[in-house]
Amino acid sequence: MSNVFHRSCHGSLPVAVGGEGVYLIDSTGKRYLDGSGGAAVSCLGHGHPAVIEAIQKQVGSLAFAHTGFFTNEPAEELATFLADRSPGTLNHVYFISGGSEAAEASLKLARQYMLEIGQPKRCRFIARRQSYHGNTVGALSVGGNMARRVPYAEMLIDVAHVSPCYPYRDQGPGESDADYVARLAAELDAEIERLGPETVLAFVAEPVVGATAGAVAPVLGYFKAIREVCDRHGVLLILDEVMCGMGRTGTLFACEQDDVIPDILYTAKGLGAGYQPIGAMFASEKIYGAIRDGSGFFQHGHTYMAHAAACAGALAVQKVIEGDGLIENVRRQGDTLDAALHERFGNHQHVGDIRGRGLFRAIELVADRASKATFDPSARLATRIRARAMDEGLVCYPGSGTIDGRNGDHVLIAPPFIIRETEVAELVDKLGRAVDGAL
Ligand code: PLP
Repeated sequence: MSNVFHRSCHGSLPVAVGGEGVYLIDSTGKRYLDGSGGAAVSCLGHGHPAVIEAIQKQVGSLAFAHTGFFTNEPAEELATFLADRSPGTLNHVYFISGGSEAAEASLKLARQYMLEIGQPKRCRFIARRQSYHGNTVGALSVGGNMARRVPYAEMLIDVAHVSPCYPYRDQGPGESDADYVARLAAELDAEIERLGPETVLAFVAEPVVGATAGAVAPVLGYFKAIREVCDRHGVLLILDEVMCGMGRTGTLFACEQDDVIPDILYTAKGLGAGYQPIGAMFASEKIYGAIRDGSGFFQHGHTYMAHAAACAGALAVQKVIEGDGLIENVRRQGDTLDAALHERFGNHQHVGDIRGRGLFRAIELVADRASKATFDPSARLATRIRARAMDEGLVCYPGSGTIDGRNGDHVLIAPPFIIRETEVAELVDKLGRAVDGAL
């Protein structure tokens, strides 16, 4: 009997005791190919000596000094490293402990910006139905994952939600990308008008949707059109790259591929790659400057922000990724993975869509390919695939249909950036057996 309050109160979990490269090892010695890094966390794989050494060295000299009193060397160096590589003027980097904290910080920073520039009526957020931004109350409020929201509905702040950019489900037959983009931009525009533009603060979105529907990338041009609508109404654009950022899609920041620069961007999982809990919020010069030249103080903070050991770990991770050319490997092995998924599932009667960018891929499962009908949720397909995969020695990230009950179950694949071709083949082979065994 465990005294750990686990996510589920039923059943028991294998005990993870070690990790080597793309594999995790449990206490019985069983090896699991880490095909999703939990949820897109372990981008460097497990047991990397340079990262372990950097963390040990930092803890040996200084683990923690409160940021109300001191700064520390790893935080300063990591911020400069990231600012040198971030798009546009997103040069002001605020460190926290994970994705939900990053989401909260972003919402509050956006609000404070509006106060600093004398627009106090702007307090409404608009987000998308197909989205997940974290489990804390503010982050959950902007998120569109209904299953996670429902128990807490009465506690959430009032956020308006518009349609996601979800070509497989929502792009009309014969509708061009340009027409689809124009339709979604018009919907956002109409929602801002409905709320009253003077009350709208920011639009929040994931460049490539992660957990809610599985690696859904927008059609090209979508974010440029959204940016234009936001700018026209003085609404900020906040992009959530907690899952899709830090190289996962084949560029350091996912939004680079959509040719858009937000006002605020935040990232987490791949930043510390699981070696340390850390997230980062990037504020543009416009936002940071308004606070610097206004009240001079961001009314937010956490005890563990810019934690020295966390920053040292993340800095080591990012230096290895850059030094070893791992983002090039994401693009190369991403293509290999895409081809292998098409080969294995392209004609599968229950796989409706195969999609994603880089090493951020997914298959969407359907009861019927022609009608795109979803499986009955009571079949608990995602749960059964997860269990089958674990039996096979594969960690993948299945999710159930969530967007207004319309999208199907899916399986997200997000292996470490160090993955090789033979391991991609092993991953897809095991996934195929897990999916077929669960259907
Ligand atoms: N935003 C996105 C896009 C995520 O995928 C997640 C976590 O899965 C979060 C935010 C929340 O991050 P965390 O679990 O670190 O709080």
